[in-house]
Amino acid sequence: MSRRAVFNVSGKKFEVDQCSLLKIGTSKVQDMAQQSESEIFINRPSDSFEAILAYHQTGELHIPQNTCPCAFKTEIEFYGIESTNLAPCCFYKYSNFMNNQSTLEEFRQRAFPRNDIGEIDGSQKTRWRRFRSRIWRILDDHNSSVMAKVYFVASASLVLLSVFNLILSTLGSLHRPLNAVEKYEVLGYERASYGDDCVDLVSGWLHEKPMQGGEILNMNCSQLYTNLNNKTVTLDILWYIDVCLLCIFAVEFVIRIVFCPSLKEYFKCFVNVLDTVALIGSLSGILMNNIWSIQRYEWNEYDTISNLQVLRAVRLLRVIKNLDSSKVMSFVLVTGFSELSVMLSFLCVSVLIFSNLIFYLEDRETMPDILTGCWWSVVTMTTVGFGDIVPRSILGRILGMVCAVSGVVLIAVTIPIFVNTFVLVYNYAKLQSSVFSTKTTKRRSKDSYHKLTEES
Ligand SMILES: [Zn+2]
Repeated sequence: MSRRAVFNVSGKKFEVDQCSLLKIGTSKVQDMAQQSESEIFINRPSDSFEAILAYHQTGELHIPQNTCPCAFKTEIEFYGIESTNLAPCCFYKYSNFMNNQSTLEEFRQRAFPRNDIGEIDGSQKTRWRRFRSRIWRILDDHNSSVMAKVYFVASASLVLLSVFNLILSTLGSLHRPLNAVEKYEVLGYERASYGDDCVDLVSGWLHEKPMQGGEILNMNCSQLYTNLNNKTVTLDILWYIDVCLLCIFAVEFVIRIVFCPSLKEYFKCFVNVLDTVALIGSLSGILMNNIWSIQRYEWNEYDTISNLQVLRAVRLLRVIKNLDSSKVMSFVLVTGFSELSVMLSFLCVSVLIFSNLIFYLEDRETMPDILTGCWWSVVTMTTVGFGDIVPRSILGRILGMVCAVSGVVLIAVTIPIFVNTFVLVYNYAKLQSSVFSTKTTKRRSKDSYHKLTEES
């Protein structure tokens, strides 16, 4: 004899034959139907219940078209059903959705931490702490106020100017020949390597008139003389701009250190450490140029400390580190590390195979060793192709084709992983910042409303 069970789910009635309901694992639905004599009232959304009831009739669990997978998760948990019971078509959709949610949650925790170094914690804030907090906000969070935005733009332009200045200073057309004073200065430093006689002779040439025909016989000294005349130095204006910018950066650094809520946290950030190193490098470069003026006329590649000023481009990282897109980019790179390592290991294996093969297929003139083969296969697989090493035999060329095509395939397979995560997280970050700005505007209008009501 069949007995009817009536479910009343938020006003919507479902009437089923008790015996037709399947017994599924830990699900409560069948028990409810059997235990209750009268109508069963359930205060849950009816659309999800419909899908769950269908599961007990057909044995297949699908997520309803217009239901959020998160909401459906709550429902199946309520009825005691595991998410692994979902039909394959919907399980894919469900697990994809959940993965995306956990990626976004991880991003939210990393990019918008609740207690970052911008927050000064303290229920009893002193006046100094409040002031420090306000200044630090301007320095560190370009979204916090108009003042912060102005500071951000100014700081970014100065860093850009400094980088362009460095680029310009390496251009030969922006160099000028040494003037007389500088030539004597350089000569002073050459005493050790050329000897006193030579230096005195050249100094005479500089002082009175260009060297005579007979004196060209003295090869060593005439070499020194030509070198001296060919030496150039960057235009003074570039030099002065550099010094000014450095002073500004140094002052800015001191201000940041003074107003930073926690020095330990400040130097925990890799970008801040790089910024400090770049500043020290630039400052020591300028200092060395003043102490040993010879530095200014000669590019000395062993002089590592002043070469650190090349790091000044890194300062741009500090400026852009708080932009949403760069937060997203660094997050994608960090979370995509496992995919990246898979790609790199594939690349390594392929490079080893191709370099060994090409080494045996080509003659020793084209491919002297396997290391050259490695260089060739990396350049070919990444589709760069400098063209410095070219296979000449037919077999070598066929291998070259295979190598190039497999490189394209490898890149084509791995890039979308990054792109998908990037698009997902970037859209979320944009949404998050727009929500944040709406909240700030609302709070501001509320504050001004309070002020108005207090005044009136
Ligand atoms: Zn489905």
